[in-house]
Amino acid sequence: MNAQIKTLLIKCFSDSSLNRLPQEYGGMPIFSAPVIGVSRGDDPIFMKFKEVVAQDHLTPVEMWVRNGLPNDGRLGPRLRTLSIVFPFDSHIREQCGRNDKPMPLELYCLARNLANPFMDQVLDRVMGFLQDQGFQATAGMGSKTFEVTSHSDSSHFHSNWSERHIAFAAGLGTFSLPETFITDLGCNIRLTSVITDAPLEVSPRVFDGAYGNCLHHAKRTCGECIAKCPVGAITREGHNKKKCSRYVQRMREKMEERPFRVMMKPHYQRLNGVEKPVYRVGCALCQFGVPCTDRNPMADE
Ligand code: SF4
Ligand code: SF4
Repeated sequence: MNAQIKTLLIKCFSDSSLNRLPQEYGGMPIFSAPVIGVSRGDDPIFMKFKEVVAQDHLTPVEMWVRNGLPNDGRLGPRLRTLSIVFPFDSHIREQCGRNDKPMPLELYCLARNLANPFMDQVLDRVMGFLQDQGFQATAGMGSKTFEVTSHSDSSHFHSNWSERHIAFAAGLGTFSLPETFITDLGCNIRLTSVITDAPLEVSPRVFDGAYGNCLHHAKRTCGECIAKCPVGAITREGHNKKKCSRYVQRMREKMEERPFRVMMKPHYQRLNGVEKPVYRVGCALCQFGVPCTDRNPMADE
């Protein structure tokens, strides 16, 4: 069934009008072909995420039950979490790689923002396919249960379902110096997931540690992302979430003043228990023009 889902995804990525930038921005695809990975619902790593992400980070069983699906007490071994990697298309990566300004291109902000309705459509199609096969399914970040909590000083956040951690569990890649997620298709990606009781084949985790794909962690080399960050949020010691989060917020406010704002779509999200529309545009300057933009740099070593 993994192969059938992959085929469905490839068709959806190539056919969907939602996977396109507006004509004013060239009408090109937002994402190129995806990759998928699968983890088991009872993988002990999900309990570990309660320590490394937050106590309220949900296991697949908890997400399933919170979304109103039945629990027969033997769910863990039967559930599968399907993680989907959405790689930004090469034309976006190339243009953004040539950007030498300390703020993201409108092209990227728009692609980042318009990705959300497309990702929702992909989730609907995958869940529809699984339900047509007689199985049940629910989304992770795309579900009503997904929630973001801001920390006491409101400068950074955590969610109860980290798609990067879910992708790590599914063997799709590892974390990096700026806490991006480096897959075989690079770090300039979006991620989403589906939890299902369909007997999908589980993917192996072949990477060497939680940061094994990052040249800084694996070889003490590279560090090219450090110079890309306009606010010094990345150093050899790690990623300063507060500095990063403040800059991303500033970029969002700046982009909201620009005329292209009318093309953006709201994304509804629960923050501290209240659902509200957000217009995320991202920053991602540290993801472009670096060795891990579009590949796993450790694959060359
Ligand atoms: S640019 Fe280099 S150091 Fe930075 S995340 Fe990528 S591989 Fe790691
Ligand atoms: S997303 Fe932007 S602000 Fe955050 S670390 Fe990367 S370059 Fe710096």
